[in-house]
Amino acid sequence: MADTMSHQVPVPVQQQATSEGAPPLISYVLPVYNEVDGIRQFHEELVSTVATRPEFDYEFIYVNDGSTDGSLGILQDLAKNDPRTRVVDFARNFGHQIAITAGLDHAGGDAVIVMDTDLQDPPRVSLELIDAWLGGAEIVSARRRTRRDTAFKRATAHTYYRVLRRCAEVDIPVDTGDFRLLDKRAAEELRGFRERSRFIRGMVASMGFQQQEVLFDRDERVAGETKYPMRKMLRLAADGVTSFSTVPLKLITRMGFISLGLAMLGIIYAVTLRLFFPAITVSGWTMLMVAMLFLGGLQMLSLGVIGSYVGRIYHEVQQRPLYIVRNVISHDED
Ligand code: UDP
Ligand code: MG
Repeated sequence: MADTMSHQVPVPVQQQATSEGAPPLISYVLPVYNEVDGIRQFHEELVSTVATRPEFDYEFIYVNDGSTDGSLGILQDLAKNDPRTRVVDFARNFGHQIAITAGLDHAGGDAVIVMDTDLQDPPRVSLELIDAWLGGAEIVSARRRTRRDTAFKRATAHTYYRVLRRCAEVDIPVDTGDFRLLDKRAAEELRGFRERSRFIRGMVASMGFQQQEVLFDRDERVAGETKYPMRKMLRLAADGVTSFSTVPLKLITRMGFISLGLAMLGIIYAVTLRLFFPAITVSGWTMLMVAMLFLGGLQMLSLGVIGSYVGRIYHEVQQRPLYIVRNVISHDED
């Protein structure tokens, strides 16, 4: 036992920062929804992976997101046999993003790693995230170099991430899901985001901090099938756009200006016809055209104005942190 401890790794920065010389605690946040056929294998693989890095303490926080297939029983069993494992059991299915949030709320580690429980996010990659953290990064995202999903999923995801990146107001990295490591401070800040329509990868991107990426090849799901049917995927995609972009609202305003401009041209045309070519205008036509075009353009523009206020109200009700402080440095700090 003693000689396995002899080849100790150099003490990293974060490690020194933790209290009373206890090894740093790494929390894993693990959302589970109907993963009965794969979850045991996942846990075994995760445990054997982290066993190769005995210089840390670990906790495994599974969030059972209202599974209906006996996943809970397996999780309870895992928790019974390993004091490092805890299970947060939801009363119903609240969705992946909420499950991650709950896990984060229960995690107390010096670093928190969020990953899927279907082995698509390989446990060995989480060690690379830890290494990047030891190297000084505060948020480390695992970015997919390749992924083994259906051609449809690959194509839609590829396009979506790029469209989102173009219209979002924050710099959301492409091909990056929720597989990432958050330093204690960053995790603490993320807990402060309490909005209901959640797009966690966007929130993380908006937080700042020292961010880094680790590339990995995404595996196939070990068992079962995707828990993101079309409906959930579309909702997540819409949440991503509407949470981090007011481009749709701005489009209305732009359309308002364009249609009012066109209306003006139409009005000039109608009035010109009436004045100079009265013979070819039907009686009443000019008045109708002028009124219709003017009102149409005005309405579109008004919608845009209202939209811009709605956008502001939306930002206010999201109640996001106004600012994020990494550290306050003062004279008498040790
Ligand atoms: N998941 C969840 N709640 C849901 C859907 C999914 O907790 O409503 C979990 C699921 O168990 C998995 C992760 O979220 O660990 C990612 O889901 P999935 O693998 O089905 O998504 P995909 O990889 O196909 O995008
Ligand atoms: Mg998956």
